[in-house]
Amino acid sequence: MHRFFLPSDSIDGSVVRFPDSTSRQLSRVLRVQIGEKVAVLDNTGWEYEVTLTNFLDNQSALGHVEESRLCPGEPNLHITLNQCVLKGSSFDLVLQKCTEVGVSSFVPVYSERTIPNMGTNSAQSRRECRWRRILTEAAEQSGRGLIPTLNQGIDFRTACKKVSDTAIIPWEEERSTGLQGVLREIKSVEDPLSRMEIFIGPEGGFSTFEIDYARSLGIIPVSLGARILRAETAAIASVSGVMYELGLLGG
Ligand code: SAH
Repeated sequence: MHRFFLPSDSIDGSVVRFPDSTSRQLSRVLRVQIGEKVAVLDNTGWEYEVTLTNFLDNQSALGHVEESRLCPGEPNLHITLNQCVLKGSSFDLVLQKCTEVGVSSFVPVYSERTIPNMGTNSAQSRRECRWRRILTEAAEQSGRGLIPTLNQGIDFRTACKKVSDTAIIPWEEERSTGLQGVLREIKSVEDPLSRMEIFIGPEGGFSTFEIDYARSLGIIPVSLGARILRAETAAIASVSGVMYELGLLGG
């Protein structure tokens, strides 16, 4: 079934009035017919099964809510991914894949070795607009009930200072503490764990100053094994590892 996030005022009781852009997509691109069902989401965590009833003036699609339920695709664990901004399309990939696996909030981080800079306000807002579209499409495709939050880009130290949940920082030079061991320890203290933060470095990694700073604020450096992963792989692998260890990846 096709899934669409709509502004909450599109749903009025049992009547759904699709915005023009979604109506066009329904009729011209997806060729959804009257009587067919689609899933509608209002970004509150609820999901509505909606039958398409008619096209007003051959344009705006109207639908009728048949059923509503809490969206089962929302994980119980709230993961914030503090991801250093990457070159090219790698950051887009992190947003897309980590939304599929279960991240709820993304923070674009600018660290010592981050190559892209924050840029002008207009460059930032263009980029954020693209990032939000990627998050929405990934959330629709993967069955999430909430579009992950995209926070404002911030520098690494500010991101560390903002942490108030259990947080880990995968670091390829960490030798003694592994991801699984740390998660098991955390679970032995807090079960079920409800919130967690992850920091992933840029292509060139974190500096030892940055790791020491994070550690001084209680953020735990962890190893993801003996292989060096690209930043985007490290993000997907650590989010998947956390979800798996907490029984949220088919557990
Ligand atoms: N330039 C570095 C690697 C950076 S990889 C080098 O070549 O040595 C980018 C990010 O992925 C790192 O900052 C870290 O957060 C994560 N990462 C990659 N491999 C990892 C591993 N084996 N253990 C922990 N973190 C890893």
